Parts: sequence; C-alpha cells; structure tokens
Amino acid sequence: VSTALDTNGLVPSHRADFPGIAADWHYLDTAATAQKAKPVLDAIARAYGPDYATVHRGVYERSANMTLAYEAARKRVAGFLNAASENEIVFTSGATDSINLVAESWGNKFVGEGDRIMLSRLEHHSNIVPWQMLAERTGAHIDVAPLTGDGQIDLDWIKENLTERHKLVALAHVSNVLGSLLDAKRAAAIAHKVGAKLLLDGCQAAPRLPVDVQDLGCDFYVFSGHKIYGPTGIGALWAPYEVLEAMPPWKGGGSMIDRVSFDGTTFAPPPGRFEAGTPHIVGVVGLDAAIQYVEDIGLDVISAHENATLAKAREALSGINSVRVFGPDKSMGILSFAVGDVHPHDVATILDEGGVAIRAGHHCAQPLMDYLGVAATARASFGIYSDDDDVAALVDGINRVRKIFG
Ligand code: PMP
Repeated sequence: VSTALDTNGLVPSHRADFPGIAADWHYLDTAATAQKAKPVLDAIARAYGPDYATVHRGVYERSANMTLAYEAARKRVAGFLNAASENEIVFTSGATDSINLVAESWGNKFVGEGDRIMLSRLEHHSNIVPWQMLAERTGAHIDVAPLTGDGQIDLDWIKENLTERHKLVALAHVSNVLGSLLDAKRAAAIAHKVGAKLLLDGCQAAPRLPVDVQDLGCDFYVFSGHKIYGPTGIGALWAPYEVLEAMPPWKGGGSMIDRVSFDGTTFAPPPGRFEAGTPHIVGVVGLDAAIQYVEDIGLDVISAHENATLAKAREALSGINSVRVFGPDKSMGILSFAVGDVHPHDVATILDEGGVAIRAGHHCAQPLMDYLGVAATARASFGIYSDDDDVAALVDGINRVRKIFG
C-alpha cells in the first residue's frame, strides 16, 4: 500500500488497488457498498483455498491455524475501534444483524412497557425497524428527533426531550444520505444523563474516520465489513464486556453453549454466546485484511482524501444552476442532490450512460425523504479510490441531464 503524498499533499486515490474499478468507470456508490481491495481478494482466495478449514472445533493443524486467524481478526477489530478487549467484539453478518441482536437480546431484557427509545429523522431503516419491532413486542414508545436546518440530528432537542423513561438513544454516527457527522461524545453525555444507553450506527463512519469507542463514550457500536472494502455478510457489534455479559443469547445452536443437556443448557460467555453455528470464517478473514488495508493507509488520511474530493464535488455542483445539494456543508464522503425536478432515477440512468455509477432512491431512509419533501434523491458517495476524474465525470453527466431535460 502506497501512502506517499501527491503534489497536492494528499494521498493518491489508491484506484490501482481495486480490480473492481476499470479505468473508465466512475464508481460513486461507495456508501452502498465499497469495492474490494486486492489484499482482501487475495486473503479471501487463500482462506477458501489452501488455508480452508473450520474454526474452534478441529484438532488438526489447519483448523487450529484458521482458529488463530479468526481470533486474530477479532483482536484487529478491537484495535480498530479501540475496544478495551477483543472479547467485546461480536462477529455478526453486518450492521443490520448487529442492531437486531441488540434489539432482541438487550432490548427484550431491558426495555419494558412504557419505556422510550429515541431515534432521529435521518436513520437508516435498519436503525428504525428493529426498534419498532421491539416496541411492538414490549409496549415501549419511539421518539423521533428532528434535524437542524443543515441536516444534523438536533441534539438540543434530544437533550430537552429525553426522560428517565428513555432506555436507549440510537443514532447514525454518519448519515448515509446527508453525510452529517454526529457529535457522538455529546450524544453520549446527553443519553447518560438520564441513564439511557447510546447505540451508534457506524456503517458510514467506520470506513471514513478514526473511531474510538472509549473516547466517544457510547454503549453499542455497529458496522458492516462490506462498506470498509471488505466482504459482504460480515460485520461486528461492540459493547463493553459487562453489557454483553448481562445480555442473554438470541440465537441458539452450536458454539454458543457451555454445556447442553435435556435437563437444561448453559451458555458460553461473550462473545461466543452470540455467535451460534459455524461462523462466516472467510468473511472474518476478509474483514481482517480490509481493516489492515485501511489501517495501513490511515483513517485520518482516508478522511482527508475523501473530504478533499467531496469538497470539490460540492463546490462544482453548487455552481450548477438548478442543482440542489442536501445536507451540511461539511458532509462525510456523501453528497445527495437533485437536478431541477428531474427524477433521480433518470439522473442516475443518464449518468450511467457516461460510466458514472451513483445511487438514486430513498436510500433506506424513507422518513428522511418525507422530511426533505422528496420521494428520492440522487447520491454520489466517495471512497479511497475516488479521484478528480470521478468528480469531473459526475459534473459532465449532470450537465448532460440538464441538456436532455432542457
Ligand atoms: N446504517 C447505515 C447508515 C447504512 O448506510 C447501512 C447500509 N446502507 C446500514 C445501516 C445497513 O447496513 P447493512 O445492510 O450492511 O447491514
């Protein structure tokens, strides 16, 4: 991995590390899923090839080695989030799975009738629906925090409206539509003042900025591997060990037990308690390689690169007549926009004809679309491989849309 600075004092885009990106293709849908770095693909090929074996059970050497690799990955994720111990990291199939784990296990035990859960208007459906299902099961209520004028979660409103009945505040660390960055430390302080826990949905934050769960002071942190240049089907949940220890298992099966008998079964301590069945072994190995890849570059360097690229795109789009840009001026790697009243699907289709891949739709954030007063937005999102050519191609494409639609 090359981290040498270019003539602008920035790292190069690392495009060459990504076999999934052809020279003439402009991939601006990294917020949906990131392309895979070569070291990740190599690690996956080795793990499914010459290194392949199960974990935790085999006594033969290859299985023992795979177990070491699996547990080394847990340690790497712990380091990535600055968790106090690798035993605080639960492997899941992704952020959605992590949130459902918390809602089922922690929620069923600690949230009861008349309790309240605080969400915000900009949450992804996966940080809404599991809580609605929990509320349905338990008789709890959901409160929805509004946004400030520039598309940030209104923490003042949350502070004023939190009560002792609130057991949980669950917020996006970075919005997948607006790119808004939450003041997570302040959110934690506000939540803790009433004894509520703070869950951070780190799907869009973990790939774009250094995350230190101890410094942030949150109680749960979730993310997905496929947004950090890693494989799909793997992600993680972090929570302090004593929080995990107080949580009952949510899926039963092999590996998550201490002893099974028909007189009663006892469960393994965390994190094993939450990893029933043969895990996504190769996914974990691929995630390990992905985190190593971003750590070798540096999350602060990735942030600087994406922010610089995004700032150029924002400036260019702001200068185009009839383009409306949503969200705060300083968004994290994500830029939602509208071109006049052209449907975002038409915008995306015309851009695709020019080799520019953006996302158009509600981005699994329908309550936010309602709030913005639109059915959908067009969204360009950037990654470590994005460069000035991508921005130029985006601008060209938007100008073509304006021409076609007059
Ligand atoms: N939260 C946010 C903010 C997201 O961007 C996404 C993915 N679009 C999710 C949650 C869900 O992640 P996954 O589908 O990988 O579980």
